[in-house]
Amino acid sequence: PTPVLAVVGRPNVGKSTLVNRIIGRREAVVEDRPGVTRDRVSYDATWNGRAFTVVDTGGWDPDARGLAERISAQAEVAVSVADAVLFVVDAGVGITDADAAVVKVLRRSGKPVVLAANKVDDARTEAEAAGLWNLGLGEPQPVSALHGRGSGDLLDAVLRAL
Ligand code: GDP
Ligand code: MG
Repeated sequence: PTPVLAVVGRPNVGKSTLVNRIIGRREAVVEDRPGVTRDRVSYDATWNGRAFTVVDTGGWDPDARGLAERISAQAEVAVSVADAVLFVVDAGVGITDADAAVVKVLRRSGKPVVLAANKVDDARTEAEAAGLWNLGLGEPQPVSALHGRGSGDLLDAVLRAL
């Protein structure tokens, strides 16, 4: 069976933009308003000749009470069906409460995690990603989902995890 990669993280970190980058198409819904992605949408992807399924997550109302709990609950479901997880954080913002809630889910799952430090659009902001080593999830992979910077190295790391 095709291995499954779940893409998780709080709203607006760029999950859907990164999914579009990974699948090489514009199918995942990207919005300036966070929370637009429908619950768990699957896409076929290949990298270096290896096929896998990418599951985008989202669909929370960012103003809802208990947002962190909702995000972590959905991450739990997505992670449970995944062979590996792509955890996306906004390198410029750093770790919020909602991010920390997802980290707990990831630790409990025992699944392999690739940590994407997104929105590193240029070399100048690359240092921001280094602080994410503190999460204990391995090497942060600096990437710009918007411009594609670092996406090849990120996908190499994904294939090693799958
Ligand atoms: P999601 O809620 O996590 O799925 O985030 P989206 O993919 O919908 O993106 C949220 C916003 O962040 C959109 O305005 C994107 O254009 C923007 N965005 C996503 N990736 C990047 C990036 O690498 N760099 C910058 N500067 N903006 C990004
Ligand atoms: Mg989305």
